[in-house]
Amino acid sequence: MPNTAQPAPQTRIPRKRTLLLGLSLLLSLGFFSTTLVSYHVSRNAIRESILTQELPLTSDNIYSEILKDLVRPVFVSSMMASDTFLRDWTLRGERDPSEITRYLKEVMERYGAFTSFFVSEASRTYYHPSGVLKKVRADEPRDAWYFRVRAMQEPYEINVDPDLANRDLLTIFINYRALDYKGRFLGAAGVGLTMDSVRSALNSYQERFGRRISFVDPAGRIVLYGNSPGLRETNIHEVEGLGSQAKAILAAGAGSYQYKSGGQTHLLNVRFIPELKWFLFVEKTEDEALAGIRRTLYVNLAVCALVTLLVVGITGLALGRYQVRLEELATTDKLTGLLNRQALDVLMHQAVTHSRRAGTPMSVLLADVDHFKAVNDQRGHLVGDEVLRRVAANLRGHLRESDTVCRWGGEEFLMIVQDCDAPAAVLLAEKLRSSVAEDLRLAELVSGQVTVSLGVAQLGADESVEALVGRADAAMYAAKQAGRDCVKVAG
Ligand code: GH3
Ligand code: MG
Ligand code: MG
Repeated sequence: MPNTAQPAPQTRIPRKRTLLLGLSLLLSLGFFSTTLVSYHVSRNAIRESILTQELPLTSDNIYSEILKDLVRPVFVSSMMASDTFLRDWTLRGERDPSEITRYLKEVMERYGAFTSFFVSEASRTYYHPSGVLKKVRADEPRDAWYFRVRAMQEPYEINVDPDLANRDLLTIFINYRALDYKGRFLGAAGVGLTMDSVRSALNSYQERFGRRISFVDPAGRIVLYGNSPGLRETNIHEVEGLGSQAKAILAAGAGSYQYKSGGQTHLLNVRFIPELKWFLFVEKTEDEALAGIRRTLYVNLAVCALVTLLVVGITGLALGRYQVRLEELATTDKLTGLLNRQALDVLMHQAVTHSRRAGTPMSVLLADVDHFKAVNDQRGHLVGDEVLRRVAANLRGHLRESDTVCRWGGEEFLMIVQDCDAPAAVLLAEKLRSSVAEDLRLAELVSGQVTVSLGVAQLGADESVEALVGRADAAMYAAKQAGRDCVKVAG
């Protein structure tokens, strides 16, 4: 019966831990670096495709939508500015205001504009679909637009202003210069759209294309934007992260840009829309674009962690099992299954320490088979081995589980008994001696009697392990001298 108590060499756990730590480090390094590298590669590819394909394509789509929605009022205004009725009526002296009013109303209704207007240069009268609105004056700030249009070189401008005639709603006006047949300035004509209708068009683009869209005038003012959070400042020069690039963006007219704002990377496509004289900004945050591959990254990382844990766990288990097996091999005597001498060294020191700390007595017993050489000689080594196995089992069987038995040498066995003084140890030794002597199986094996001589020694104060074993050995020798098959106690 093998002794179950295992010595625990100090080197065992750290070495295994180091190995497992190294393994997990290697695995995670491999796994995580490939995962992260592939994430970065995909991220760059996605960013590249957003900047070079997705956003420009969106911009193209929006541009054609804008042409449909916004350019029509420009054409309508252009048509008004060169309308023969309007010119003739003005040149004839603006005699019947109801005629021009009817005309403006007609234009407004036919083309679905929010408002329409004509301001005559000759009379400075502001005509409106519902009648004569007012006189424009150079010293009135609200009329500044008219004098700007009057002085400008271009045929028209697009201007966002509150509409005086319509409860000051923010309105986009197409201010077209009307000229007479000789090219002289007749006044300003055009239509107006509410910002709300354009903004709702913007929002519908945003919903359809999932990007943030805004319009910026050449001075950088953000003139129109949709509902979603995006450019909220009034000028792109003030937008965090974008301000520093604003000048270059407005100078270039078109291009792809990146900027960081609110902890996010924004990918931006800009194009100039000549019809509106505005820049179209289409942007997308990188987070939105990367949400998909980020999810994949997390799944991959979780799988990597799981695989690493599994591999390390399985390796740890296997390693542990091999270690236990190796330790068994290293500490067990193959023939008898008892602990070997190496294992005992550790246990002996533990036992001595325990005994000293607990203040309890401790004894060792050394047993040696009598005339064992003769057994070998007469019965052969195989029988000799069987005798050793049987003696070992006999000794082990008569000791407590907490006692230690080891094969000390060829046919010598050393026992450590805790909580046992010399007299008690002698009694125990006597019991062992008689049990071997009376073992019928042993007697059968050798066709005679197998006996053991035992030496007993109790651990003395401050005594070394070597000295203790030496005294037990001497006592055993004394037992041999006394005729064998007996017990002697060390003095
Ligand atoms: P004593 O009564 O004085 O102890 O006499 P002894 O014959 O037992 O003396 P000794 O200690 O010299 O002999 C021990 C013998 O045990 C010698 C050796 O060949 C034998 N032996 C040692 N190990 C083994 C083993 O594993 N198997 C067998 N069969 N014999 C062994
Ligand atoms: Mg011997
Ligand atoms: Mg012997």
